[in-house]
Amino acid sequence: MTQVQGTCTLVGAGPGDPELLTLKALKALQAATVLLVDDLVSDEIVAMASPAARVVYVGKRGGCKSTPQAFIEKLMLTEVRRGEQVVRLKGGDPFIFGRGGEEVEGLRAAGVEPVVVNGITSGLAAMGSLNVPLTHREHAHGVVFVTGHAKPGDSGTDWPALAATAHTAKLTLVIYMGVSGAAHIQAQLLTGLPASTPVAVVQNASLPQQRHLATTLGQLAQDMATHAMASPAVMVVGQVTASLALAWAHPDAIGRAA
Ligand code: SAH
Repeated sequence: MTQVQGTCTLVGAGPGDPELLTLKALKALQAATVLLVDDLVSDEIVAMASPAARVVYVGKRGGCKSTPQAFIEKLMLTEVRRGEQVVRLKGGDPFIFGRGGEEVEGLRAAGVEPVVVNGITSGLAAMGSLNVPLTHREHAHGVVFVTGHAKPGDSGTDWPALAATAHTAKLTLVIYMGVSGAAHIQAQLLTGLPASTPVAVVQNASLPQQRHLATTLGQLAQDMATHAMASPAVMVVGQVTASLALAWAHPDAIGRAA
């Protein structure tokens, strides 16, 4: 008897608000028989899966250390080979700091080609929720999604080079995983960008508890500490965020007037 192989779909769950899921993501969720769920995926979204689906949390929930990547990939393969419809549910988009690339490579090497369903990445959702564009014909010719937290042993982002380029090429920087390294990132970016550069920090984008801070590069770490900005948050550096400093009427605005 030939064994029926299952399927594997890497699904972006978006930034948290279930209404920001794509229809494709919803369909995949409803068809899943096994769900491997990352941190930062809201319970409301997991609840949209079939009640019969087996749900495995592989993030840091419950104070446990997150499941090693190799174990997750092995688990996906085992379930696919057992004929399951496996959905790997990740916050935001699987291909923006979601290790989706590594998972595609691992699965492909084992002979399984996954399907990828995009999600709205948190940096995009954060700015969208505040009516701030990431590009603008006058203020930003492009946007860079960059991590504030490199893999252990990696020399990490070359912040001075990035700052100089962002300044001359008019780029918006969207920094993920940058909260704990904010002071270091600030000091490094100040080598190439003026202290007056506007910065927005958005915590829990798209969720009811969303809050944001409008500040400047010169005041970034100090203001983040004063207002207890915590993870998950994105920091968006560039002129596009300047309008936020004026928008004090916004209900979730905190921080200082420019
Ligand atoms: N794949 C995800 C990113 C995973 S890395 C995406 O596309 O959004 C985890 C980082 O994403 C966090 O440290 C934080 O910087 C950011 N993040 C995820 N969800 C967020 C949210 N709701 N609001 C603000 N930042 C968020």
